[in-house]
Amino acid sequence: MAPSPSRIGSDEPIDHELVEAAARVVREHASGDEHTVAAAARTDDGRVATGLNVYHFTGGPCAELVVIGAAAAQGARALTAIVAVGGDERGILPPCGRCRQVLLDYYPAIEVIVEDGRPRSVPVADLLPGAYVNAEHQ
Ligand SMILES: [Zn+2]
Repeated sequence: MAPSPSRIGSDEPIDHELVEAAARVVREHASGDEHTVAAAARTDDGRVATGLNVYHFTGGPCAELVVIGAAAAQGARALTAIVAVGGDERGILPPCGRCRQVLLDYYPAIEVIVEDGRPRSVPVADLLPGAYVNAEHQ
């Protein structure tokens, strides 16, 4: 069946290793209500950085933001792809609005793996049409 025109993303192969890395982290390390989503990102030098969200009512960071910091701590200068996977068999989760803006500002060319019937790789700009342009990140 051909994909419907309303679907976003490309037919480029997704980075399955990232999906598996995030799924493994959330399966092995998610705990209670504090860490419920894992993310994995590909660095521009080919490494994989992973992280778990830090849930807190004051606005703890999503897994995507934890991965940005974890990758920076590994010396990664740029990320080329990212995916988040939810615990309790929730599968691939799309980034929230805040994370879409942060990803666009930090890595304008990053691809985000989303689930739209099947996993797809989508340019972050496609997830944030009409985005605010942060001059500090240009
Ligand atoms: Zn988020």
